[in-house]
Amino acid sequence: MKKEILFSREAIGRRVRELADGISRDYEGREVVLIGVLKGAFVFLADLIRNLRIPCVIDFVRLASYGSKTVSSGEIVITKDIETPIQGRDVLVVEDIVDTGLTLSFLVEKLKEKSPRSLKVCVFLDKKERRKVPFEADYVGYDIPDRFVVGYGLDCNEQFRFLPDVYVIGEGESPNRH
Ligand code: 5GP
Repeated sequence: MKKEILFSREAIGRRVRELADGISRDYEGREVVLIGVLKGAFVFLADLIRNLRIPCVIDFVRLASYGSKTVSSGEIVITKDIETPIQGRDVLVVEDIVDTGLTLSFLVEKLKEKSPRSLKVCVFLDKKERRKVPFEADYVGYDIPDRFVVGYGLDCNEQFRFLPDVYVIGEGESPNRH
């Protein structure tokens, strides 16, 4: 499979440190509950927390989407919910990539039902031109064009998550998920 490097591990390391610095400043003196979205966000989350200078606790959520993602009514369900109580706490959702916005807008609404004190979202990658529903993340690693990317936790049929750099998969080789 033809892959082209988009972001090197060195560039990613620098960008993650910048994001972590911003988050540490914004939440100074507070404890944050970081909620990673499985599976894709686990690498980003692991790097992010090791660069934070604020106390934090970690939890994970897993979502599945049924039906076509190109249809905005595509049903999303939580297949693994968080186990940490978040009522009255500062919550930061950490996700690998926001594309149509369907997944994160669904998750944000679900988490709001648990009455956190604050709720923000940090994404590693953002494909803004692909939105089907309005959604804006509070922290964005990189804005990227409408290309399918793998590596740094992101997969293609469960492959390539382990790659330390981010790659664009060649035209015609990306899975039919758009
Ligand atoms: P959304 O609901 O915003 O359309 O979808 C977000 C999810 O789509 C991400 O969590 C990820 O699983 C998947 N996704 C969207 N674009 C890409 C991509 O370029 N590469 C990979 N590996 N996953 C993607």
